[in-house]
Amino acid sequence: MDDELIKVIVIGDSLVGKTSFIHRYVNNTYRAEYKSTIGVDFALKMVRWNDSSTIKLQLWDIAGQERFTFMTRAYYKDARGCILMFDVTNKLTFDKVRKWKADLDSKARLSDGNMIPCLLVANKSDLESPQVTHKQISEMCTEHEFVGWTETSVKEDHMIKESVSYLLDVIKGKC
Ligand code: GDP
Ligand code: MG
Repeated sequence: MDDELIKVIVIGDSLVGKTSFIHRYVNNTYRAEYKSTIGVDFALKMVRWNDSSTIKLQLWDIAGQERFTFMTRAYYKDARGCILMFDVTNKLTFDKVRKWKADLDSKARLSDGNMIPCLLVANKSDLESPQVTHKQISEMCTEHEFVGWTETSVKEDHMIKESVSYLLDVIKGKC
């Protein structure tokens, strides 16, 4: 049986750590294997799912486009999951979360019509003086129907694998 291909997109403002997150997750095996005309890169990682199956996880990186506009439908198309990232030390990137989520939900759905499961990721937890509280993040998570939220530090390799693994569980219907 062929490995199941799962597309997960990573969105959020510039400089929050999206590209670093993908590099970290794929364990420095990242290669820009593909560059489309809309400026999207993706990285592939084979994820052992259980004894008999492996998932071919495709992580899509906006690759600079976020500076100019929100994403086109083409970027979201066929995504089975989403990581929406902000920087805990930059309140503006948190304030933009609701816009990113609205953009996603207005342009893309799963094939069954449901919302694309989206994990809210609060990156750069290693830095001092965060500008966003856990309470604010938790409220954002509930109000905008994220499947969950987590703090991460790409720098310190904190909660990176766990985040992706949780999102895959949601996608595969395990939770
Ligand atoms: P992108 O624009 O969202 O793709 O962000 P990048 O991955 O290019 O990262 C932007 C900057 O943030 C880079 O200088 C990274 O080294 C830095 N960065 C990313 N993740 C972390 C983190 O967890 N902690 C700290 N301190 N810096 C980070
Ligand atoms: Mg980037």
